[in-house]
Amino acid sequence: MKICLFSAKRYDRVSFDTRNHALASSGLKDIELDYFDTSLDAKTAGLAQGSDAVCAFVNDDLGASTLTELAGFGVKAILMRCAGFNNVDLDAAARLGITVYRVPAYSPEAVAEHAIALMMTLNRRIHKAYQRTRDANFSLEGLTGINIFGKTAGVIGTGKIGLAALRILKGFGCRLLAYDPYPSDEAKAMGVDYVNLSTLLRESTIITLHCPLTPENTYMIGRSAFSQMQKGTLLINTSRGKLVDTQSCLEALKNGTLGGLALDVYEHEKSLFFEDLSAEVIQDDVFRRLSACHNVIFTGHQAFLTEEALQNIADTTLANAVAFCDSKENGNEVTPQVVDNS
Ligand code: NAD
Repeated sequence: MKICLFSAKRYDRVSFDTRNHALASSGLKDIELDYFDTSLDAKTAGLAQGSDAVCAFVNDDLGASTLTELAGFGVKAILMRCAGFNNVDLDAAARLGITVYRVPAYSPEAVAEHAIALMMTLNRRIHKAYQRTRDANFSLEGLTGINIFGKTAGVIGTGKIGLAALRILKGFGCRLLAYDPYPSDEAKAMGVDYVNLSTLLRESTIITLHCPLTPENTYMIGRSAFSQMQKGTLLINTSRGKLVDTQSCLEALKNGTLGGLALDVYEHEKSLFFEDLSAEVIQDDVFRRLSACHNVIFTGHQAFLTEEALQNIADTTLANAVAFCDSKENGNEVTPQVVDNS
């Protein structure tokens, strides 16, 4: 079997080559991996000619026209090396006879721990302190944070990652609120109170997003949500960029509703993230204005990036490929009927 990997970085090659070598040594399957740094879209789909499957990532374009091109080149399976699949046209894939797989849970802790790292950085101004101390500026002016202990944390989406975040926040001694159409027994057992979205927005000092992006919840955090929040709310998004209307974040930062904003995902990240643009002029004015705020921090969609997660992603993706080869269902298939597109 031959798999063409798009948007492949050095760390992807290392993890996939290592795990594929282990698979081959066990005599289970002989899989050929072809890596391309370029992202996937209808124009680059031709690179997959001669491949049985394509392995893609969060910002690749798997819309109907790309999938049609891929099907024309003989590609029969899409192996998403991530949990989300909001960038795949599942109806088109089904129509074209392409099976879509994903990696549903490679390391919920990796993402949750990153969300908490962002929360702590934002709250205790670590990003500013780091810059200052490098300049031998040891002034503490403007570095005052708040105790997380005793504060109310609101978690939106209590699936695998939301639960991992709740476990950590419980350790901090927070009052825990959650909003999810499908409440979790594990969260309830932890003492989490499920409330409606308005109550969560009104009562939380810290809000962290852990739900998938769907057409229904696009911009769920926008002007109306900000109008319900307390002054000085800390907002963390490690889920998907379009859950947050970033234009209205600027307003919420200016009027003090947001005391801090930490984004690992950004609605227009496709033209920015995963590339070194340090020698270029960024054309995205909203991004530039946000980056200029002292209480906004970005990371470039790196919440998943731990050694453990990379190994799990490679292992599960290769297992998905083997299941496809053997025509065996393994539960990681994504069909248009799957509602929760995490
Ligand atoms: P999951 O399927 O285990 O949980 C998602 C939860 O969200 C479910 O409980 C679901 O009921 C809930 N939900 C669905 N729609 C909702 C809504 N409108 N409001 C509130 N809750 C809603 O998924 P997961 O593994 O916890 O992943 C969550 C998301 O994290 C993924 O969809 C993905 O977008 C994002 N993610 C980001 C990274 C990263 O590196 N930044 C990595 C992995 C996943």
